[in-house]
Amino acid sequence: MNHFESRRGALWCEGVPLSRIAQAVGTPAYVYSSATLERHYAVLSQAFHGIDHHLCYSVKACSTLAVLKLFARQGAWFDIVSGGELERVSRAGADPARVVFAGVGKTRDEMALALRRGIALFNVESAEELQALDEVARRLKRKAPFALRVNPEVDARTHRYIATGLKTSKFGVPLKEARSLYAHSRTLRGLTAVGIDSHIGSQLTDERPMREAVTAVAAMYRDLRAAGFPLRYLDVGGGLGITYRAERPPSVERYAQVVSAPLRGLGATLLVEPGRMLVGNAAVLLTRVLYRKRTPAKRFVVVDAAMNDLMRPALYEAYHGIEAVAPRAGARQKVDVAGPVCESADVLGKDRLLPPLEQGDLVVVRTAGAYAMSMASNYNSRPRAPEVLVRGSKFRVVRQRETVNDLMRGETT
Ligand SMILES: *Cc1c(COP(=O)(O)O)cnc(C)c1O
Repeated sequence: MNHFESRRGALWCEGVPLSRIAQAVGTPAYVYSSATLERHYAVLSQAFHGIDHHLCYSVKACSTLAVLKLFARQGAWFDIVSGGELERVSRAGADPARVVFAGVGKTRDEMALALRRGIALFNVESAEELQALDEVARRLKRKAPFALRVNPEVDARTHRYIATGLKTSKFGVPLKEARSLYAHSRTLRGLTAVGIDSHIGSQLTDERPMREAVTAVAAMYRDLRAAGFPLRYLDVGGGLGITYRAERPPSVERYAQVVSAPLRGLGATLLVEPGRMLVGNAAVLLTRVLYRKRTPAKRFVVVDAAMNDLMRPALYEAYHGIEAVAPRAGARQKVDVAGPVCESADVLGKDRLLPPLEQGDLVVVRTAGAYAMSMASNYNSRPRAPEVLVRGSKFRVVRQRETVNDLMRGETT
């Protein structure tokens, strides 16, 4: 469900025609629907009603301040993977006590920053990282609350680049090693074990690996509690898939059942780290047709958005729906929608049946809220696109379009 709908032959976001936004801010631009963001949060929160839990929005999916602030107002916790994300969350007005910090390569500076700010817990991913966290905490005369991210070694059956729970993955600690690390942590005075964590991948559409992972982690939680560890949090990560094309992920209600059932009777506070599910279909990438061209093999529509604005098609061969904002009458044609970047991978959509398009026509790339702007780059010296947040019949620019001067800041000749 989202709030981008066709009205009188043109696409709107809530109460605003997309053509009006393009006129005001130019293209390309990301357009977010606050009603969609808030609805997703409310529906997920409702699905976990009655279960002691916190929703920790996964900042890397979309780290825009206005989006973080919107979720902070809904009562969200936050899942971060860098010191930069911690600064963003703080700047958005969120309480650092509601932050969990994951990632395989936290630096000592990032650990110190997070400790001083008083985050809820570190999700630690290796023995050496655990050692480093202990040293940093003792130097600051603090105790670092931590969970180990365990790797339950289940196949999440998602794209290999976004599976994180395979035996060969760089993420987490194997279950067996985790047991000995928890035991070892008792000798480290800078640390307090407060939980256990796992995250097996992203864009998960199959509930079985979710259930297997949570069941394994819940069993370990029980054992550790029995062994006297004062654990409180059971973090099941994020990863619930969304529909880009025809995927059929479990419903939010079903997902909540699957991940909370193994926790029954544990007395744990459940942490859930949704990213894509909250923001994915809450935005579109609004772009304009620059040129059409025809080769002996194909028809192309060249638009002003590119792989630097939306990397997912090039990186994961991901599918994003593409639509004309105001479809013209006439027979649909099969086209490749390509960007201006000098890479053959810079195709946003292949073999799409689209209504006739002409120079200057507006087109949207759907489901551009997650891993879109947050992965955007300046490749080909392209300034990053602005972000617009719609609320009802109003909209505002929440991040301005970068300028060419922004691109060269800090450079010398
Ligand atoms: C990326 C990530 C998430 C969010 O994943 P989604 O698929 O966007 O829900 C949650 N937790 C961790 C540790 C992550 O790295």
